[in-house]
Amino acid sequence: MEKTFVGIDVGGTTVKLGIVDSNGELLRKTEIPSPADEGGEEGIRLMGKAARRLAEASGTPWEQVAGVGLGLPGFLDIPSGKILRLTNIPWENVPVKEVLEEELNVPVAIDNDANAAALGEAWSGAGRGLTDLICITLGTGVGGGVITGGRLVHGLSGAAGEIGHIQVEEGGALCGCGKRGCVETVASATGMVRLAKEAVASDSESQLAPKAKDGSLSARDIFAASEAGDETAREVIETAMDALGRMMSVLSVITNPAAFIVGGGVSRAGELLFAPLRRAYEKYTLSFAADGVQILPARLGNDAGVIGAAGLTAEREILR
Ligand SMILES: [Zn+2]
Repeated sequence: MEKTFVGIDVGGTTVKLGIVDSNGELLRKTEIPSPADEGGEEGIRLMGKAARRLAEASGTPWEQVAGVGLGLPGFLDIPSGKILRLTNIPWENVPVKEVLEEELNVPVAIDNDANAAALGEAWSGAGRGLTDLICITLGTGVGGGVITGGRLVHGLSGAAGEIGHIQVEEGGALCGCGKRGCVETVASATGMVRLAKEAVASDSESQLAPKAKDGSLSARDIFAASEAGDETAREVIETAMDALGRMMSVLSVITNPAAFIVGGGVSRAGELLFAPLRRAYEKYTLSFAADGVQILPARLGNDAGVIGAAGLTAEREILR
């Protein structure tokens, strides 16, 4: 019997669910509103019911489902499958694994959403076939997932992979984590907009100036302006990618991954982002650790989280 898996990608406003085959291909997906207003256990049970409905809608008998995984935003006790505290959802100390295994009768695993996305890209995305890779998600923050020897790395408290908080600038801008100068304050969409606002304060000729003043400036505007020849925009991208490349050089001498997979909204800028990033990476990284390393765009887009979550109970089988 062909094994299938259900992945649940939990966000503050929507919960995405997907049913995935043993090759990591998404067979069918659906969404429900995030049950954030329910109590934690009740919310988790609602997701379990949605998982059963999804299997039924895809014509998969529940007995064929080999595992259910959840990608969650926040602080988790991963081995015991417990939520400690989430960002955007007011749930604390919820025994997800215990509640759902009873409800669904299959193995259940949880992990943070960035790790789930990394597993998805490794299973059937840009990193297919690789057992050593690091995923970097560039959005409002900088997220990450580290896979080494075919295993997601969690560490003592599950903080492994929080690569957005590697410090790249001493005494730099204040980060959401409370520290200063984290790479997230420079290379995320939010960080790039901050850099651009600072830059136009001394260069009002830049195309970025009007939007920087009225507060509507986005990372997308910065890439568009750079493509149109705006020097300030080009410098902002250069600065952001320099910081990211430096962070990657550190990671390269720790796990020596075969690939860095870069996803998230900002990564859609394509070569405008990847060219300066590859330059910075080569500039900073020990050659022996950089040789043959690929820097690739993510392939699964928003589905990475749901696909990777589906693979969480089968990590040992899927990354070979
Ligand atoms: Zn930080």
